[in-house]
Formats: sequence, C-alpha cells, structure tokens
Amino acid sequence: MDVLVINADLGPLHRVSLRHAVRMLVRRVAEVHEAEPDRLIGVYPVPTVVRLVRYVVTKWRYTAGPAWSRAGVMRRDGRRCAYCAGPADTVDHVLPRSRGGRNSWRNTVAACYSCNQAKGDRTPAEAGMVLRIEPATPAWTSLGGR
Ligand SMILES: [Zn+2]
Repeated sequence: MDVLVINADLGPLHRVSLRHAVRMLVRRVAEVHEAEPDRLIGVYPVPTVVRLVRYVVTKWRYTAGPAWSRAGVMRRDGRRCAYCAGPADTVDHVLPRSRGGRNSWRNTVAACYSCNQAKGDRTPAEAGMVLRIEPATPAWTSLGGR
C-alpha cells in the first residue's frame, strides 16, 4: 500500500511505502493528512496521505532529476553495454571510483562484464574504448515514477 506525500502547501509530491510514511511521522517531518478510518499502525492512524511539516522547494526535481541508482542506469541505457552494445550486467564508472569517480548519472553507464573488466581502473580514453552514448540525467518519466 502506497501513501501519497503532499507538500506543506498541499501540492502532491510523490508516493512512498507505508513503512516509509510511518518513519516520516516518527521523525516528525510529516503529519497525517488523511487516514483510513479505525485502523492504527502503532500509535498512528494508518495514513493514506501525509503532509510535510515544512514546505519543500521542488524546483530541484527539474534541475537535478531523479536520484541516481544502479537500476536506474541499467534502465536508462536499455541494459545495453555502453561500449560494445551487448547485453549489460554491470554498471561502469566512466571515471573509476578508485580515482574519485562518483555514483552520478553522468559518470556511470551500463556495461557488459567483459568490457568492464577490460576497462579496469582506466578512463575510456586511456583504455582505448569509445562510449556509444553520452551519459545524462534521465527524465523522471523515463524511470516510471518514484
Ligand atoms: Zn561490452
């Protein structure tokens, strides 16, 4: 069961799991806005909508995009290796993590195991490998919400 999170100004934001919503109540970052009648989870009515206590500026959603995740990188790249276009089963850091490369949309691509191994702790240029794609931040909609 999902719970709708709304901003302090009642603008809808996103949906979270019931567990996540209860954690927000416990941490007092949100309050119950609508609840199921006569049902409790711990000391709280089972929420269907929680309202943030403080207004959150949501402009960042459009500039920074969704949070990085391995699954998101795989989905963005269609599970195709960024180097050889074969089926990808790993996530490669363009600038290797050992050299300060971060978990970010622009620094990660889907890669097959052998390309990832061949590249090792090098940049694509150093390894003589060519990226087929330019890694970018995906749109919210392309990740199917959340
Ligand atoms: Zn490959």
